[in-house]
Amino acid sequence: MSVSEVGMSYSKMVDVYEALDSTTKRLEKTSILAKFFSDIGEKNPKLLPIVTLLSLGRVFPTWSEEELGIGTKILMKAIAYVVGVKPQDVEDMQRDAGDIGQAAENLFRKKKQETLFTRSLTIEKVHSNLIKIATISGSKAQSKKLEILRELLSSSSPTEAKYITRTVIEELRVGVGEGTIRDALAQAFGVEKSVVERAHMLTNDLGLVAEVSKEQGTEGLKNLTLNPGKPVKPMLAQLSPGISTSILEMGWALCETKYDGIRVQIHRLGDEVNIFTRRLENISKAVPEIVEYIRKSLPVEDFIVEGEIIVTRDGKPISFQYILQRVRRKYDIERMREEVPLKLFLFDVLYYNGPLIDSPFEKRREVLESLVTVTDKIQLSTQVKVTPDSLQDAENLFNKSIKGGHEGIMIKDPHAPYMPGIRGKKMLKLKAEPETLDLVVVGGSYGRGKRAHLIGSYLLAAKDENNELKTLAYAATGLDDKTLLELHNLVEPIIIKKSGRQVEIAPHIILEIAYSEIVKSPEYESGYSLRFPVVKRIRDDLSIDDIDTVERINSMFKGN
Ligand code: AMP
Repeated sequence: MSVSEVGMSYSKMVDVYEALDSTTKRLEKTSILAKFFSDIGEKNPKLLPIVTLLSLGRVFPTWSEEELGIGTKILMKAIAYVVGVKPQDVEDMQRDAGDIGQAAENLFRKKKQETLFTRSLTIEKVHSNLIKIATISGSKAQSKKLEILRELLSSSSPTEAKYITRTVIEELRVGVGEGTIRDALAQAFGVEKSVVERAHMLTNDLGLVAEVSKEQGTEGLKNLTLNPGKPVKPMLAQLSPGISTSILEMGWALCETKYDGIRVQIHRLGDEVNIFTRRLENISKAVPEIVEYIRKSLPVEDFIVEGEIIVTRDGKPISFQYILQRVRRKYDIERMREEVPLKLFLFDVLYYNGPLIDSPFEKRREVLESLVTVTDKIQLSTQVKVTPDSLQDAENLFNKSIKGGHEGIMIKDPHAPYMPGIRGKKMLKLKAEPETLDLVVVGGSYGRGKRAHLIGSYLLAAKDENNELKTLAYAATGLDDKTLLELHNLVEPIIIKKSGRQVEIAPHIILEIAYSEIVKSPEYESGYSLRFPVVKRIRDDLSIDDIDTVERINSMFKGN
């Protein structure tokens, strides 16, 4: 490695992280970032997209499938090697410090000889090494990754080591979310917030949005649009207060069966067909038959369509859990194809001969109908047009859907554009079952007696308006032994701290929780609690971005 590299010192980035960490106020965080972005934009514009992503603790834009592929084990090994301790010492320190980044900083500080970080790290160097780590594959990939990581860490100061470590595991812990970054870009480059938001929604690339904000301003941002091949966050549904209220509000509506499977966004670009989940994970390899059906039933043109994949047996949909088995599967796909047969219901089109998201839903549905050759395996969602004079048709569809083993109905505004990532009033859902909450596991407690070796109850949290997690309830029941064990195995490697029977757990696992009532409670950070919370299922199709908010719980409480 050349010692005379030029570039911007990584310590500048780290100063920003520390400043962000020192305040909980969103406005202050926004202005710290705005100042930093505008500085970088002036002095080193090439670096702007990079630091924008790094400010979020990311190396790649959200649409990208690239990942660093570094587990905590390797990270611990790298830290241990550089500071001259055993990986077990790093693990112990992590338990005491609360996170592996803080553990790295503590260990680096303890280290006596100061010979290591004589060379100063640049942002360019950190970034290019992280990219290198992501591109390594094949045999000996892990040891090559380890080697690059060691090299980076051995040039780091203790605080730099903390943030490199946290960037590697994508948990920066400085309380900055995408919203703060967008506000900071708007502030830094004098562009409209709403335009930044839209550009981000369509491209899922904050680095690109930063660059265009700086170079081309509001007009340039307006020209950004969605591209087949790059997934966008799906438009989400709010709960319908009831058939008649919803339809009267919309004027008239398009009602559809609500299928209980997983939402997919299917992109065709040239000859490539890719299938993404709502977390934007590419699952094409796990569901090759869906790729085949799409190739057969849709034209050979670039497009983006959306639908729901479900599993059927003897013509009836079967449990949602089966589909997760398929999606997670890496091996034995051919056998699984037979055992767990899939079917796709398409319900929207976002791109065909150019973007369609600004077209009204009614029009998009027409385009979709003209595109798809329906077969047994690939169909359009069952849809009826309902006016205030024919509300009974919506009820009939609801009853038919429930009888057919589906979840309920969707009520969609025919005039609405497609709004990526937005949970608005233009698409509503009406389910037969009472509403559930999607919450993240943040802690737990080991069981007693026969279950003493298993975590038997889980502490759950929702997020507040600053994206901070607030606890809400302990849920203990609802899982069969097999799922309980599965959950335990998912949770065990991400335990941060143990004290007695209690554990603290890194916030990664999302559970769908049913309950009888929301109640006020000073015992939990959210100020609320749930009566009789029951775990319905593990939602590995959701990420922490998708969990329910304290605000929603508040409004559900008031609505009680
Ligand atoms: P939510 O995930 O809570 O926003 O509920 C809406 C979900 O219902 C979507 O994300 C889809 O996965 C699913 N869904 C099932 N059938 C349909 C349909 N016909 N139209 C739209 N979404 C549907």
